[in-house]
Amino acid sequence: MIPSVLRCSEAGCGTEVPRDYRGYSCPVCGNLLQAVPNPGPLSPEQLKKNWRERRASNAPLDTSGVWRFREYLPDCPADAVVTLAEGNVPLLAGQKTADYAGARHLWFKHLGWNPTGSFKDLGMTVAVTEARRQGAETVACASTGNTAASMAAYAARANLRARVYLPKGGASMQKLAQALDFGAETQYVDGNFDDALRVLMAEADTGIYFLNSINPFRIEGQKTAIFHLMDQLDWRAPDYIVLPGGNLGNSAAFGKAIEELAAIGLMNPIPRLVIVQARGSNALVRTVESGGSELQVVTDPQTMATAIRIGNPRSWKKALRALRFTGGIVMDVDDADIMAAKQVLGRDGIGSEPASATTLAGIRHLIADGRMDPEARVVAFLTGHALKDTDSILNARRGDA
Ligand SMILES: *Cc1c(COP(=O)(O)O)cnc(C)c1O
Repeated sequence: MIPSVLRCSEAGCGTEVPRDYRGYSCPVCGNLLQAVPNPGPLSPEQLKKNWRERRASNAPLDTSGVWRFREYLPDCPADAVVTLAEGNVPLLAGQKTADYAGARHLWFKHLGWNPTGSFKDLGMTVAVTEARRQGAETVACASTGNTAASMAAYAARANLRARVYLPKGGASMQKLAQALDFGAETQYVDGNFDDALRVLMAEADTGIYFLNSINPFRIEGQKTAIFHLMDQLDWRAPDYIVLPGGNLGNSAAFGKAIEELAAIGLMNPIPRLVIVQARGSNALVRTVESGGSELQVVTDPQTMATAIRIGNPRSWKKALRALRFTGGIVMDVDDADIMAAKQVLGRDGIGSEPASATTLAGIRHLIADGRMDPEARVVAFLTGHALKDTDSILNARRGDA
């Protein structure tokens, strides 16, 4: 359970603010805030047992693959939770994909098989629950589409108004259609995602609760993907966990989960986190190459993987911390690599939107370059459903017929 404060994520600062604080960053040093869970008196063995037993329970909170791990989530009465039974996605063994990458032990965890088709649902169930607890009437986000679709669904469920800011031309029609279907008010912003986020943040109206990934409650929900994975692996950690990197909220969430589980002895060995960016939107790659003390913003981010077309990732410091803690790797792949990998995922019967396929493309490069052992146990997270961006499929095939 999480007590009623948030703490600055900068180790040397540690400033605490009330849980209801709406500033999103530390009032002293400006870094992002985070929740600090206190899982209570249960032993790690008891926690594992509880989490496994809840899989067989039909109680509403237990049927959520997020809230099942509630000892590590914000304290909330069961009947106040806003849930769509998210989080229960399988772990699938790679077949043609494993051959393609040259990996002998490859699994995919497809977070695109969540209620609105992306991993954003894991964070929204927690953050929209919190928005309602705080008495918000309107929730808002800037989005390349998936955050908007997810927020709109959970806001509808919670009876809150949803307002989304989309970069003109930067979100697929399918994602926009979902947001409209769930009743969101949509506003197009000239420019890219970073511009849309700037417009949103400028509308600092205290009646609006912001749901971008700078919101620490979203990070708490997203981190349960790692708890869920470990339960599926019977608590035998993989050697690598691979995910795409855009605004880097999910990288931050996964790093936080690995640290929290390691702290109670449930993460052995520590898996190395591999963050894969699109080459035209590779701010974290550039930042690490330049020493890591200042973010190297990409001013005009490009890639056809629109979900990660972000040049100014807000959670970059938290992502760096995750890389340091896990001995991780950040790398980039180009759009041709992404589309080739995406097609192979399709041949495995899995499918994904382009941003997710960065993971397979990245693993293939790491093994080919001798940086990853072909015998390593590798889990790649897929983040968005294939139906999220059908243009990317049809455009790639135009002329094939
Ligand atoms: C949001 C999103 C990402 C990027 O996640 P970040 O937390 O912003 O790094 C990757 N893939 C898909 C499909 C997404 O929707």
